[in-house]
Amino acid sequence: MSAQQDFRQFIQGEWVESPKTRANINPSDPTEIVGVAAEASIEQVDQAVLAAQAALPSWSRSTPQQRFDVLDFIGTEILARKQELGTLLAREEGKILPEAIGEVARAAYIFKFFAGEALRIGGQAIASVRPNMEVITSREAVGVVGLITPWNFPIAIPAWKAAPALACGNTVVLKPSELTPGCAWALAEIISRSGLPKGAFNLVMGDGVAGKALVEHPAINAISFTGSTGTGKLIAQHCALTMKKYQLEMGGKNPLVILDDADLNIAVECAVNGAFFSTGQRCTASSRTIITAGIYDAFKSAILERTRGLKVGAAIEASSQIGPVVDQRQLDKNLGYIAIGVAEGGNLLVGGERLPGTGYFFSPALIENHNPNARLNQEEVFGPVSTLVKAQNFEEALQIANATPYGLSAGICTTSLKYATQFRRDMQAGMIMVNAPTAGVDYHVPFGGSKASSYGPREQGGMAMEFYTRVKTHYLA
Ligand code: NAD
Repeated sequence: MSAQQDFRQFIQGEWVESPKTRANINPSDPTEIVGVAAEASIEQVDQAVLAAQAALPSWSRSTPQQRFDVLDFIGTEILARKQELGTLLAREEGKILPEAIGEVARAAYIFKFFAGEALRIGGQAIASVRPNMEVITSREAVGVVGLITPWNFPIAIPAWKAAPALACGNTVVLKPSELTPGCAWALAEIISRSGLPKGAFNLVMGDGVAGKALVEHPAINAISFTGSTGTGKLIAQHCALTMKKYQLEMGGKNPLVILDDADLNIAVECAVNGAFFSTGQRCTASSRTIITAGIYDAFKSAILERTRGLKVGAAIEASSQIGPVVDQRQLDKNLGYIAIGVAEGGNLLVGGERLPGTGYFFSPALIENHNPNARLNQEEVFGPVSTLVKAQNFEEALQIANATPYGLSAGICTTSLKYATQFRRDMQAGMIMVNAPTAGVDYHVPFGGSKASSYGPREQGGMAMEFYTRVKTHYLA
C-alpha cells in the first residue's frame, strides 16, 4: 500500500494512484483521517472502461463454475473479515458497529447468493408454431457495466451490483461515493485475489465528475445507479439518448401507518427503528409516521419517551445507538430542514439539534405536522427526522401515505388482516412491511420501488439477472 494513497484505484488488474487525492474523514471525529483516496482523472476512467471492454470476451465466455468459484471466494473472505471490515465501515460512514458488521455480512451473503445464481442462468425451450422448428431462448452478458453507488451502504450496494453483474459474465467499472472509498477499496482488494481475469473488475474513485465520465463513456453498455433522484434523472437523460441500458434506485419519503388497533409497543419500535436507526440515512427510512386519531395521543407520548432515551454517539462506542451524520453538508441539510419544518408551522417535539462533540452528532427529531403537503412531508431529508401526521381513519391514512412523488418502501402497524391486506394491495410502493420497520430487508429477494424512487428492472434476488443479461432467441430448423 502506498504511504500517500491508502485507497488506490484498481484498473486492468493494477493498483493505480492519481494526481488528485481526497481525505476520507471519520464523521464520529472529523480530525481523524481514515485514509487518503485517489481521485480519478477522466483519462483513468477511460482506461478503466477500456480495460473492462478488453476483458469482456474472456469473462463473458467463462463457465458457470468459474463464476461460482470467484464469487464464492469473495463472499467467504468478506464474511471471515466482517469484524475488521465492519470497523472500517463504521469509521468512514458513521453507522454504529453492530449495523456496520451486519452490512458487511449482508455483502458476503449477497456474493454467495449470486455464486449460486451463476449456476442457474438458463433459457427456455418453447414449442414453435411451425413444423420442424425448435425455439430456444438464452441469456447473455450485457457487456461493460458501470456501477455508481452512494455512501450510505458502502459495501452492500457495491456488492449487490457487482455480484450479479459478474455472475452474468459482464465486466465492471465501479465508481463508489467519494465519501466512502475505503469499503470499495477493501472489496476491490479481495476481488483482486479471487481469480477474476485482469480488467474484469475495475475500481475508479472520485465524485460526480468521475461518475459522469463513466456514464458518458461510449464503451459503456449499461449503468446501474443508486443515489439521489436528482442525479438519477441526469443519468437517465444521457442513457436514454445514447440507448444504454440503465437501472436507477433513488430516494424515498417512506410512510409508516399506525392504526388504532396496532400493538403500541410494536408500533413504537417500528417507528423508532425505521426513522432513526442507521442515523435515518437509509433510502427505506420511514420519515413520515401517519397515525389514526384513536391511538394518536398514546403513540405520541410513547414515541417521545423512547426517542428521548436514544443514545447518540461515536460509531464504534458500544453504548451508541445512533451514530453521527455522514458529513457537515448532510448535517447542515438536516438542520436546514428542521428550520423549514418549524417555519411552515410544524411543532418540533424533540431533537433536531447539533449535539456537543467533535463528530457530526445530531439528535433524532420528531416534528408534528398534519399537513400532508408540507415540505417536510414531501421532500427527502435523508437524516433522523420524522414527522407525525394525524389521520382520521385507515382510508385517510392510506391516501396521505400515497401522496408523495416517491414509492420505495411503506409500512403498516395493525392487528387487522382486512386493513393489512388492503394496504398491501393499494399502497404504491415497491416494498410493503406489516408490523415491521420499513427498513431491514432480506438479501435474497427483489429490492426496489415505484414512482420517482426506482426505474428499470429490480435489483437483488433472482430478478437482478434481468438487468445484467440480454435475451437471445434461437430458431433451429
Ligand atoms: P448522490 O446522487 O449525490 O450520489 C450518488 C453517486 O452518484 C455518488 O457516487 C456520486 O459521486 C455520483 N454522482 C453524482 N453526480 C453524478 C453525475 N452527474 N453523474 C454520475 N454520477 C454522479 O447520492 P448520495 O448523497 O451519495 O446518496 C443518498 C441518496 O441515495 C438518497 O437520495 C438515498 O435515498 C439514495 N439511496 C437510494 C437507495 C435505493 O436503493 N433506492 C439506496 C441507498 C441510497
